[in-house]
Parts: sequence; C-alpha cells; structure tokens
Amino acid sequence: MSPSPQPLLAKSSAELTEWVQSQDLPPYRAKQIRQWLYQKQARSLLEMSDLPKAWRERRQDYPLGRSTIEQRRIAPDQTRKYLLKLQDGLIIETVGIPSAKRLTVCVSSQVGCAMDCRFCATGKGGFLRNLEAHEIVDQVLTVQEDFQERVSHVVFMGMGEPLLNLPRLLPAIQSINQDIGIGQRSLTVSTVGLPQKIRQLAEKKLQITLAVSLHAPNQPLRETLIPKAKHYPLPQLMTDCRDYVEQTGRRLSFEYILLAGVNDHPALAKELAQLLRGFQSHVNLIPYNPISEADYRRPESSAIEAFSAVLTQSYIPVSVRYSRGLEADAACGQLRASQGATAG
Ligand code: SAH
Repeated sequence: MSPSPQPLLAKSSAELTEWVQSQDLPPYRAKQIRQWLYQKQARSLLEMSDLPKAWRERRQDYPLGRSTIEQRRIAPDQTRKYLLKLQDGLIIETVGIPSAKRLTVCVSSQVGCAMDCRFCATGKGGFLRNLEAHEIVDQVLTVQEDFQERVSHVVFMGMGEPLLNLPRLLPAIQSINQDIGIGQRSLTVSTVGLPQKIRQLAEKKLQITLAVSLHAPNQPLRETLIPKAKHYPLPQLMTDCRDYVEQTGRRLSFEYILLAGVNDHPALAKELAQLLRGFQSHVNLIPYNPISEADYRRPESSAIEAFSAVLTQSYIPVSVRYSRGLEADAACGQLRASQGATAG
C-alpha cells in the first residue's frame, strides 16, 4: 500500500517546492500554490486557476488539509464556536473571539486531552490523538475565512496539551507565522507544564508568549487539581520557567484558575506572590467556568478582587480574564467534542 498523500497545508516552503518538483512542475509554482492556500481560500487544486489545467484536473483530489465546519454557534458577545470535522471524521473545537482591535483564535492542539485536570471538560473525554500541523493551521484559516477578517492573535488554549505535540506544534507555529503572517509575539502557547518540555521549547528561542497553567502556589494543592503535576515538582517547574525567560528574553505568564473555597483564599495569593517574587511574569486570574462534570464554584467578585489585590500589593502584575463565549459553551475549559456533540 502506498502511504497516504501528505496534505499541502503547513508544509515548509522547501517541502512545498520539493513536492511541486515531484509533480514535474517548475519550482516557481510553489509560490502560486502558497497564495491559493493562505490568501485565496482554496479548498482544492482544481480551483488554482493559474496552474496548468490538465494537471489540476488530474490531481483534483489531492488533499490540501482543510476541515469542514460541522457546526457553528455564535454567542451574544459575538464569540463563535466551531466544531470542525477532520479527514478521519473526528471532531475538534475552535473558537473565534472578536474584540475592538483584535480577532483571536483559540486553537486545539490535540483531539481530547490526557491531562485530566479536575476542572476541565476536555480532560473528561480522554485523549484520542495528536493533531497534525495542517489541522492546527486549518483552524486559523477557517476562522479567518468565516469572519472575513484577518486573524491578529492565536492562543493554544483549546483542546489538548500543546507541549505533548511539539513535533507538530513547531511546524504549525512556523506556518501560522510565515504563511498566514501572524507575528510570533501574537501567538500564545498555554501549557500545564511537563518535565523537559518547557526546556525543549526554550531551546527553539521563539518569540511567542508562553503561558503556564499554575493554579496553585504549592505542590500538594497543585496535585489535587492537576494530577499530572505529581511528576513535576513545583521547584523544578519554576526553575524551568526562569530558564525559559532567560533563554528567550520573553516574559512569561501564569494562569491561575479561581475555584471558590479551593484555591482562592487570600493566604494563597500571598503564597503565590512569594513564589513569583522577582520573576518577570504576569498572572492571569481565570474565574472558573462551570462544567457539568465537576462541582466547583466560581468565587464571588469580591473574592476575585481580594485575591487580585494581594498580588498587586506585592507588585506582581495581574489581570483577571473573564472568559468570552460562555453562552456558546465556548469558554476556557468547556471544549469537549464527543461524537459531534457540543461541550458542557
Ligand atoms: N493544556 C493547556 C492548554 C489548554 S487549557 C493548559 O493546561 O494550559 C487552557 C486554559 O484553560 C488553562 O489555563 C486551563 O487550566 C483553563 N481551564 C480549563 N478548564 C477551565 C474551566 N472550567 N474554567 C476556566 N478555565 C479553565
């Protein structure tokens, strides 16, 4: 059996040129194909009208690597949640979040997730497979085409743990940056933190923003929320984060979900401030978005403000990130595509 053809999306320019030559076409054709893929919303080779007609007709079924929109829901705040169907029929979720000056896409990096964080809907469905680079890039193009507006920012905060899919994440980042034209500084990769992985990413010296899901200022509490944290002691995680900042020259942000009565006590804010003292970082507090599979609660606004105030008093830069798209089950932690059904 011959191997299935490699989709064209997310190929590096060298790979695309090589592919074009394997088709007995001159190398300059690669540039035209890139335009069709990334600027002209092509969904098949047949549409690429400045390429030789006979060749296009012969190769019309060659996969470009695009998904189809299975479902789209628009929340009152204009956030759009998509269920995208991949070539093998699996469904992933992608969110488009418009604001005054930005269009942000929240992309998935895996189908499902193996991390099993206690408060996250994706983890409840288990892990199915890694996404290919083209399946990540496709999500950005799909949102850009649907909004008919340029995507300005991409956050890897959808389904999955991006750093467990580094071999595909890195080419996807390269394509989003070089082919779609979104600056690395406008890309954020969010990770639960895994041994070796932050170091591996640091070596690439990318200018992206790394966001680390901390959620607790000490190891015992962190392990109750993130089971996989058992294998990654907090002091080691913090050392890796400091080295990341040193190696890349980029600030890092920490995400801290706020769960009422669990990790929102002001004493824990003090402990967090201690942990982060002198660290070039920013804390994003994310008030919990309720999911049906867990019985945590979102803290009252006063508790959220109190937690944030403790950090500010300790000179730790902090912001509260209220999730968008709650009404469409499109908020952080609510993405779960099971058998084509929606999250929540
Ligand atoms: N696996 C990566 C990226 C996906 S989750 C990570 O853990 O960082 C993106 C962010 O959403 C993480 O900070 C995650 O902890 C947060 N999140 C998950 N479930 C949530 C929920 N129910 N409410 C609010 N934030 C949630």
